[in-house]
Amino acid sequence: HTCLLDIQDLRVHFILEDSAVRAVDGVSLKVHEGETLTLIGESGSGKSILGTSILRLLPPNARIDGKILFNGLDLLNLPEDDLRKIRGRDIAWVPQNPATSLNPVLKVGIQIAEPMETHLNMNRESALKKVIKLLKFFDIEPAEKRVNEYPHQYSGGMRQRALVAMGTSTKPKLIIADEPTKGVDASKKVRVVELFRKIKKNGKLSMLVITHDLPFARTLADRIAVMYCGQIVEICNADTFFEEPLHPYSKALLDSLPSRGLKPIKGNSPSMVSPPEGCRFHPRCEYANSRCRKEPPLIELNGNSVRCWLYD
Ligand code: SF4
Ligand code: MG
Repeated sequence: HTCLLDIQDLRVHFILEDSAVRAVDGVSLKVHEGETLTLIGESGSGKSILGTSILRLLPPNARIDGKILFNGLDLLNLPEDDLRKIRGRDIAWVPQNPATSLNPVLKVGIQIAEPMETHLNMNRESALKKVIKLLKFFDIEPAEKRVNEYPHQYSGGMRQRALVAMGTSTKPKLIIADEPTKGVDASKKVRVVELFRKIKKNGKLSMLVITHDLPFARTLADRIAVMYCGQIVEICNADTFFEEPLHPYSKALLDSLPSRGLKPIKGNSPSMVSPPEGCRFHPRCEYANSRCRKEPPLIELNGNSVRCWLYD
């Protein structure tokens, strides 16, 4: 498998008045061509910040270190103009909140057409024809009417699908989606799942899907990466993960699912300002021993990786 996105030792810190939040703390992660990697973890674990940093969409008080290579291009050191070309053409970002991500005073059709006009040199007329096809593909019907409507005339689900349509219109190599099922009620979730499966089936593209929704991750992922307190604690083939996860935190996450006994994870989410010493999961881990006072490295295990002394 060719590596499309190669994140190396990424660190994102937010400098506050008298402290620093280490939101992403030494993350290395690869996304291969054609694969869907799902990044899971509780909210506040740094998942979205990691996703946001790839396209340099972070707020100004963020300090970012490490390397992000996309097709060999060093994204963190790319001039802003070059990065803008990659954004929207090669990498699509599907943000978490569809309500605030569309311009309320512009017709949705024109908004979806725009990246095709900018990046594929299409004229308005042919771009709009393509938009109608996309609206049909994503079940935004009647497409000929919807193309001329404004965001407020769309339902929440339609707005979200419109954003995905916009993201996929330029046939990007990579889609990064942040919590696509967040705030979607259970009855509508099926459609989001279908939508992403459809995109996956339709193209050779790669996806990085950030989610705290494990059943959703299961339907989609080729591999799973688990984030805990700013670090990756497990990277695992999806089938293996849902049968037999490696890391104690992954086990606890799965045991907290209704289908697996609804056992809540004990203890509290750790502080990103002063993370626990040693293994960051140790205050909540039922396997912790004295060894865990030292921070475990990511340990390779049959092509998977796990950050836990039990596998040393
Ligand atoms: Fe638990 Fe120790 Fe493994 Fe950390 S290193 S997850 S505390 S057993
Ligand atoms: Mg988030």
